[in-house]
Amino acid sequence: MAVMEITKIGHEVLRKKAEPVQKITKKTQTLIRDMIETMYAAEGVGLAAPQVGLSERIIIIDIGDGPIAMVNPEIIAHEGSEIDVEGCLSIPGRHGYVKRWLETTVQFLDEKGKPHRMVTNGLLSRAIQHELDHLNGVLFVDIMLEEAKLRSEDETSDEEYQQQESG
Ligand code: ZN
Repeated sequence: MAVMEITKIGHEVLRKKAEPVQKITKKTQTLIRDMIETMYAAEGVGLAAPQVGLSERIIIIDIGDGPIAMVNPEIIAHEGSEIDVEGCLSIPGRHGYVKRWLETTVQFLDEKGKPHRMVTNGLLSRAIQHELDHLNGVLFVDIMLEEAKLRSEDETSDEEYQQQESG
């Protein structure tokens, strides 16, 4: 496994619409493993393939329950909405309030090509929406309601915060 370099805002790959994965190969599975390692090394809760320079529809999420890989993810239903603070591994040092659907039903293939349909809510739903935006060239700073100023007098909580929310 290998830790990959995370692309930062300004890189054109973050603005492209990513291509659907046609066939899940050994190479795809290696990429997924490398993305998981990269996400853990950066202490994020999610990572999308464009964030490692690849314009493919693959996202990785781990909100603390173990990693989930989603190939060609699609939100097929949603309900309610919620405003909360987000950060992004591709936009270091910035956070903002973003309105997201509270509950989403997502359809995807796993790393073996098996189809899944999952109803998600809360942080998992938010993380999936954030990562899916990456596949469409959208960054949270494009859609945030306002910049969030984190408390600078308490460094510890800022760090914990970033670990929990950055994707
Ligand atoms: Zn992000």
